[in-house]
This record gives sequence, structure tokens and C-alpha cells, in this order.
Amino acid sequence: MCPDDYFDQGFQLDGGENAQKPEEKDPNLDRAGFFDGGGAADAGAGTDITVRAQQPETTRLLNYLLGQAIELEASDVHIQPDSDGYLVRFRIDGVLGDFQRPPKGMGPVLIARIKVLSDMNIAERRLPQDGRLELHHQGKDVEIRVSIIPAVFGESAVLRILSTGIAEHKLEHLGLTPKSAQQFHDLFRSPHGMILVTGPTGSGKTTTLYAAINDLNQMNRKIITTEEPVEYDIKGIIQVEINPIVGLTFATSLRSILRQDPDIILIGEIRDPETARIAIQAGLTGHLVFGTVHTRDASSAIPRLVNMGIEPYLVADTILGVIAQRLVRKLCTKCKEPTTPSVYEAKILESAGIEDTSTLCRGKGCEACGGHGYRGRQAIFELMICDGEIRDLIHNNSSPITLRNAARAAGTRSLREEGIAMALRGETTLDEILRITIDERMDPAALAEAGD
Ligand SMILES: [Zn+2]
Repeated sequence: MCPDDYFDQGFQLDGGENAQKPEEKDPNLDRAGFFDGGGAADAGAGTDITVRAQQPETTRLLNYLLGQAIELEASDVHIQPDSDGYLVRFRIDGVLGDFQRPPKGMGPVLIARIKVLSDMNIAERRLPQDGRLELHHQGKDVEIRVSIIPAVFGESAVLRILSTGIAEHKLEHLGLTPKSAQQFHDLFRSPHGMILVTGPTGSGKTTTLYAAINDLNQMNRKIITTEEPVEYDIKGIIQVEINPIVGLTFATSLRSILRQDPDIILIGEIRDPETARIAIQAGLTGHLVFGTVHTRDASSAIPRLVNMGIEPYLVADTILGVIAQRLVRKLCTKCKEPTTPSVYEAKILESAGIEDTSTLCRGKGCEACGGHGYRGRQAIFELMICDGEIRDLIHNNSSPITLRNAARAAGTRSLREEGIAMALRGETTLDEILRITIDERMDPAALAEAGD
């Protein structure tokens, strides 16, 4: 069933005739409001939208859109204006796709309804606003983070669907191989020091950290987090949401957290020298510290800390391990079928010493996966344990390449290798792995040649 069918059926069921009736003056409302600076001039229009935002068909349309997003396991709902009105788009498995255009004139009304539900100022249409709303869907509480910004054709809203319960945040649900699961478990049981998780935005770092925290969340430990924003509520731990507007940054919250007698501290992101310094200090003085950094791979996280002004010997004494991760789209189990590698893929496999490619699969596309061939995502991990020789190398301020080579010699598998292993298990495609990982060992020129 294509998204249009979903929409038409659902909306007719819920919305009725009234909601489909086109409103002639609405398409220009937001433009008018935006350009004349709001205020008295568009007070009438604002009232109209405010009233319509409270009407049942608006609620039904929004519930329908969010319900569909949750059913399709979308991470984000985009309600964005353009010259033709409004367009609703869903990000599913990391890929953004068009869902449907709301009935004419309903875009600004939907935005107003979202503002009401998120405790935002409904009359403010010239400045960005952030908020959150909670929704009850099929017996589950769903947290949604909302961002609204004014754009040329009207306000644009993005709703991030945060949680559908914390049950998913468990180590055994991360898709770890038995060996990695044991390594993660051992690492998280360290009494003090620092563990870093690295990867780009949307690589599932938060999920991994929450799984670790859930694993460690016991009565005899005090766990405090500082986050931007708090994405999931976890019972039994203290979660601090940073608020730079009032001066509550990662660094300032961290200083106070240390006076709260914590055993375990989670830092949403280490991106400035002060936060890095306090985090290292906390790890050195008997706390177990978890933090994220934005680097390409595990070994690059070490020089990142050094570049923030931390002495290499302090990094060596504190860092227990670095986890790099990516989210990989999984093949749809309903339509996957055996396949053979392309010439390019065969060369990649050959360079990795793989001969048997009989287990490779592809997704044909079916109703269950919306024709994409993929459904759901799973993380792949690169785990660098910082002990023995690697600790010495960090102490001596070695380059990321030296660290990477030493980690490989000690048994660390790269993201590319973990991904190829997943493809060879028939769980994803090589195409997907090549899209999201890079091969450190291959010469780019050779890769380009192989791609022809
Ligand atoms: Zn399918």
C-alpha cells in the first residue's frame, strides 16, 4: 500500500467531510503573518487558526499522522511549507520520504495544534520554538520532541519521536555478537574511568548509552546524566537537561553533578575543553564516566581529547575503551532473497579475503517494507579496548593510524568488517554497508577504479 492510500483511507475515516473542505484564504495566512511582522495586522488570522486548532478534525488529522508515523516506525515527522502549501514527510530507517500533503489550508492549523500540545506560544510565528509533547498510542506513552522554525512560506515543524518505552534499551537488544556482548559487559563493570561512544548524529549512540545505564542501574549506585535534551526517562536515575539560555551547559552541570556524590555519570556530549577536563577529572577520581564525541572511528576519539587540551598521559590513565557505531538498515524478512555481488562488491569482498558469497541477500521490496526492501535498523560496533600496548601508545601521543593498527592487532574489527559480516549473514546488503562505512585500509584511488 502506498502512502497515499494510507492517508486517504485514514483521513476519510477520521476527518469526515468538514476537514476536507478547502479554505480559500488559508494558503497565504502564514506568508502574510511572517512578512508583516505579525501583531495586530494578522490578529484576525491568528484567531481563526487558534479556533481551528482546537477543532476535532484537526486533532484527528494530527493523531492520524502521528499514528501512521509510529506504525511505520518513523523517527521524525516533518511538516514543512513550500510554495504549494504544506508537505508531511517521514524519516524511516534514516531515510526521508514524502508521506502526504494535508488538505489545503490545514498546514498552519496543524502547526498551531502542535504548539498548543507542546506548551508553546501559539501567537508567536516569527521566532523558533522548542517543546515536547506526550502521546498515548496503543497502550504506550510516546514522547515527542518538537522544533518549529519560521521559514519563507510559513512555519516548519519537525517532531522527533523519542521513545516508545525503555524496554528496548537493553544490552541484549543491541544486536551484539556474543563476543562483543561479553566485552561490553566487562567494560561497563569497570569501577572507574571513562568510556566513550562515538559516531555521527543518528548513529544510535544514545541507545547504547541508555542500555549501559539500564544495565548498571541498581539500588546501590547513584547515576546522574547531563543531556541535551533528556531523550528517555529512566526510573531511578537523576537526569539533568542542559539549558544554555540560563547558563546551564554541560560543563556547569557537570561541576554541580560532582558535588551530588555520583558513582556513574553520563555526559551527553563532550565538545568543549572544559567539559573534557572535568570529565577526565571525574574518571580519575573514582567515577565511571560515559560520554559521546563526534569522530569518524574509535581511534580518532583519543586525539580529539588531546586536541581539547587534555594531556595524553591523563587520557591514557582514564579511557577504558571507545565504541564507534553506525546504524545499518536490516533487510525485510518478508521479501529478502539470495543475490550475487556486483563487480564492485566482488572486488571489495575479494580484498577482504572472502570467497563464499552464497549467503548474500537483497530485498525485493514488498508491502511490509513499503517497497524499500529494508525494515528496521541494527547497530554495528567497533570496540577499542584501551589497555596494554594501546594505553602506552596513547600515553606517547601516538597518531590515530598507529592506534588503529594496534587495535586491529589486538582483535578490534572495523565498522566495515562488522558490516560485511552482517551482510554475509544475510541480514543486510553490501550496498548498505558500503554506503555507511569506509575502508581504512583501501587506497581511495583503487576503490574508484574498482567502482568503474
Ligand atoms: Zn519487504
